[in-house]
Amino acid sequence: MNEAEIVIIGGGIAGVSAAYHLSELGHRVLLLERDAIAAHASGLNSSLISSTPQRGVPDLEALLTAGSLEIYRSLQLDQHADIEFRQSGTLRAICSEAEAELASQVVEAAADATSVRLLSVGEARSIEPELSPNLLGALLFPRNAQANPVKATRALAQAAERQGARIVTRCAVTDVARRADGSYLIRAGDMTVSAVRLVIAAGPWAPAIGALLGIEIPVVTVRGQMWATEALPPRLQHNLSSMESSLYWHQASAEPELPSHLTHRAGRRVTRHLYGRQTRAGEIIFGGDRELLGDHAVVDPDGIASNHRHASELLPLLAALPVQRSWAGLMAFSRDGHPLVGPVPGEPALWLIGGMASSGFGEAPMAGRLLATWMHAGRRPDLLVAADPAGRVHVPGKP
Ligand SMILES: Cc1cc2nc3c(=O)[nH]c(=O)nc-3n(C[C@H](O)[C@H](O)[C@H](O)COP(=O)(O)OP(=O)(O)OC[C@H]3O[C@@H](n4cnc5c(N)ncnc54)[C@H](O)[C@@H]3O)c2cc1C
Repeated sequence: MNEAEIVIIGGGIAGVSAAYHLSELGHRVLLLERDAIAAHASGLNSSLISSTPQRGVPDLEALLTAGSLEIYRSLQLDQHADIEFRQSGTLRAICSEAEAELASQVVEAAADATSVRLLSVGEARSIEPELSPNLLGALLFPRNAQANPVKATRALAQAAERQGARIVTRCAVTDVARRADGSYLIRAGDMTVSAVRLVIAAGPWAPAIGALLGIEIPVVTVRGQMWATEALPPRLQHNLSSMESSLYWHQASAEPELPSHLTHRAGRRVTRHLYGRQTRAGEIIFGGDRELLGDHAVVDPDGIASNHRHASELLPLLAALPVQRSWAGLMAFSRDGHPLVGPVPGEPALWLIGGMASSGFGEAPMAGRLLATWMHAGRRPDLLVAADPAGRVHVPGKP
């Protein structure tokens, strides 16, 4: 039998960040990944690092993204891992008076005036010339960034290995059991491992791992999808998005037990969400749909066509550029909208990191650092109050 101090299940951005930061603190880590590193959402996302302006203190999601941005920047500049990191900023297009009203509120609510600016359409087009002259304006988030998601996730995994973490891929965890001394017995492939502590970082598959231990992890699986044009010479400078879904989600009433930021309800489209950028390889990539479909990572061509039309309204050059390829990926949305980072209540040796929805590429590096700090020091970092699984994860038979 193998013995490990800490076993991490899942080699997405959350698992590799936990592995990197725990090994940096001197812990002996074994990460088990069913497929390859970055095989799922962490390698399929649009990799916008969207550092939204802080609305108050502490603002968990904004601070996680700000911390992650520094981790990605350091990977690129200090560790010389070319992850295509670029602090490109985001322009969020404003297309109606109601969106303009909401955009003004976003600027007024920002705790730091330098984190967001309202631009006229002329100002927006002077820094992003391909934007449509029909827009009413745009919000500029100058701190937002982008990177290559596969390269970034793999670079963090390699950095963890250089610090001594062991990473085993093509190795699915099929069983987990508690032992009398409080440790865990894990079966994965032909391995049996005993672990003093266990971290579940299995994205949308976290509930399946939790079920092996009788624990209900409150995340639901949401399908996202994206498309790409052929490779072009550089045409776009910024990350690009639209206010349309922001306005809908601002006005819509929440449904209990369901995440609020979805584009479809009961199989019907309720709003159009949009985000994208041009990659270093030249493809223009966009996505936006977020639909509850269970474990169904298959592309819906109608959704792709709708997203392509929406993007073409912002960027007229896209109308003449057909979709060359499309793909889908699965995300874990927590039911209450906050990440889940910390120990399972009543199970001090069992830890979670996940539920970061459509912002996990931007939030998980810092979430992994804070998880490692908590596991190492035994004290919850103040920032993680809203992410604490206590009171949110149900363990039958335990208070
Ligand atoms: C189309 C799309 C676009 C997105 N765009 C953005 C964006 O622009 N910005 C942003 O911040 N976020 C974005 N996201 C969200 C982001 O990708 C996710 O929040 C993030 O990648 C989640 O990381 P994770 O490590 O928690 O999960 P995952 O990447 O899903 O990793 C979980 C891993 O666990 C492994 N696993 C599962 N079960 C087992 C098992 N039994 N044994 C071993 N391993 C197992 C899986 O194989 C998987 O590799 C997007 C997502 C999608 C799908």
